[in-house]
Amino acid sequence: MAGDFSLLHRICKLVVLVCFLHISVTLFFYVRSLDIPSAFVQNQQQNRVNRTENNLIRSSKLPSVAGEKELEKPGEKELEKCPETSPLLVGPLRVDFGSPVGEELVRQQNPALQPGGRFRPADCVALQKVAVIIPFRRREEHLRFWLYYLHPILQRQQLDYGVYVVAQDGDATFNRAKLLNVGYTEALKDYDYDCFVFSDVDLIPMDDRNTYRCFSQPRHLSVSMDKFGFRLPYNQYFGGVSSMSKEQFLKINGFPNNYWGWGGEDDDIFNRLSFRGMSISRPSGDIGKCRMIQHQRDKKNEANPQRFNRIAHTRDTMSSDGISSLSYSLLKTEKRDLYTWISVDVGKP
Ligand code: BGC
Repeated sequence: MAGDFSLLHRICKLVVLVCFLHISVTLFFYVRSLDIPSAFVQNQQQNRVNRTENNLIRSSKLPSVAGEKELEKPGEKELEKCPETSPLLVGPLRVDFGSPVGEELVRQQNPALQPGGRFRPADCVALQKVAVIIPFRRREEHLRFWLYYLHPILQRQQLDYGVYVVAQDGDATFNRAKLLNVGYTEALKDYDYDCFVFSDVDLIPMDDRNTYRCFSQPRHLSVSMDKFGFRLPYNQYFGGVSSMSKEQFLKINGFPNNYWGWGGEDDDIFNRLSFRGMSISRPSGDIGKCRMIQHQRDKKNEANPQRFNRIAHTRDTMSSDGISSLSYSLLKTEKRDLYTWISVDVGKP
């Protein structure tokens, strides 16, 4: 009987031992599967990477739209960069100038605009800071069409942008290229732009995939205008709408200041670019389609008879005539709801 009991006792001990071993092994593998220390290290590293990326974005000095330095507010979401191609684009657009549009309508349709015609995407950091510069004189109706069509397009393109209307004061002969130089200079006083789009007031793109930004080479954007049967009038044509990074613009000493009246200044700019070893980038003819608002030739913007002679001498004149020699009298800068108005006296021929 005593022998039976001791056998039973031993069997029980063995069972308890086996159970203990089983529980230990299970516990060991369970704890290992949690991998607590390495998960902790990984999280720490991820946090560090996130912080560095955000610092990089912040260190690119992104001021708020109103121009003041950005302060991080508690609980504010850290933004990622916008994608290379905006997911908001819709492609071909209907553009017509049948019935006039009012500024009030444009205001209502673009509630996210900030004073001065400024915008930046709310949910990502735009890839470029773009100043859109429009040389102007007495074309209010065209400007309203431009604002009506372009603001929604530029917002869908996820740009951090501002619109600058540079108005030539007085009745002297019009000087498009000098106004563009003024726009470049004045826009930079407002914000740290890295890209400049130079656009005539009467040209509207017909496809929002024609992004109003800068590329590795200067860009010609208005490549197939209705006015020219939707094709380039000639290979060197650089008129209408173009874009240049700050670096590209400075490399050619900006634009010429002494083309008074219609024509030639865009050919001079083309010459400057090619003399500085740059080429022209363009969208496809399909994406680059645009419409021009029909109009009579403006008064005091007659064809410039000196343009042929000037174009022939770009190489000799470009280093002395340009942004380095620009002089003008600024009369007024006004932040209007849909654009920044810059009124300027550029002198006369
Ligand atoms: C002028 C350019 C103009 C082009 C197309 C050329 O003869 O010099 O300024 O853009 O024609 O109209």
